[in-house]
Amino acid sequence: MNRRRFPVVLLVHGGAGGVRAGGPQLRTIGRVLEEGYARLENGAAALDVVESAIRALEDSGLFNAGRGGRLQLDGHLRLDASLMEGEGLRAGAVAGIEGIRNPVSAARRVLESSPHVLLAGEGAGRFARFHRLAGMGPHSSRQKRLHQKALRAGPDWMGKYRTLFGTGTVGAAALDRSGTLSAGASTGGIGLMLPGRVGDSPLIGAGVYADNRSAAVSMTGEGESIIRAGLAREIAFRMRLGAAPRAAATVSLREMRERIGGAAGGLFLGADGAFALVHTTAFMIGGYRSGRREKISDRFLRV
Ligand code: ASP
Repeated sequence: MNRRRFPVVLLVHGGAGGVRAGGPQLRTIGRVLEEGYARLENGAAALDVVESAIRALEDSGLFNAGRGGRLQLDGHLRLDASLMEGEGLRAGAVAGIEGIRNPVSAARRVLESSPHVLLAGEGAGRFARFHRLAGMGPHSSRQKRLHQKALRAGPDWMGKYRTLFGTGTVGAAALDRSGTLSAGASTGGIGLMLPGRVGDSPLIGAGVYADNRSAAVSMTGEGESIIRAGLAREIAFRMRLGAAPRAAATVSLREMRERIGGAAGGLFLGADGAFALVHTTAFMIGGYRSGRREKISDRFLRV
């Protein structure tokens, strides 16, 4: 029996975009990394650590997720999240869920307690309430102000939203002692989106992927481009074929930009513990911890 102990690794992001991180965001990322890494060292499963890390970021209200999530054009908060683990390729996701405090935990319930992968809209909310997940408290007043400001800014939304908002989607990827990879993401979506719009974050293979034979990936950025390029699984597959995380991500992100435009970034973690944080945007908030290697920043490898 293989009793090899794998190096533990935790990667976290707080979104890619054009705006620098604030001190509170960086401190929150630092705290989440420290707590999650300690749990991994003590033998916790990657899936549990990824879920808890994302929950903490949702609860902070400092990111575009959970109570800090962006409102859709009709003023409703509809959230997307997903989780995947790489041993059995089990996955769960929710899209457009309303009134639930931690969408990532609703995704976890879909993974564990249903035969499905993705629940959307009203059905997702009912499922989460059935499982007694906590309801959403008051929405961040900052997001309400930003929403009003964005509405006043007029129709030039594709160009403007990055600088109007600044905080991003959240995500995490981890490798645990048993060699299992997991990844997840949670988001309020992009600025000024039509009601009902769903991004890449709840789409397994687009925004998130985890397979012990290849990689754990969590994407952030313009969901429409990430979906069309099928990025998470494409990058994981390049890694399965032997590419290093940095090379795999760089090739796919550049190809997306050249062919269809769009801006994105993500966390890329291999089954051997090698990893990279790569983005085409000016900034990506995030951090990593692996042994003595640690960094918390809003800039990683920009390509
Ligand atoms: N990828 C997310 C979406 O399109 C947004 C983000 O990462 O900021 O919904």
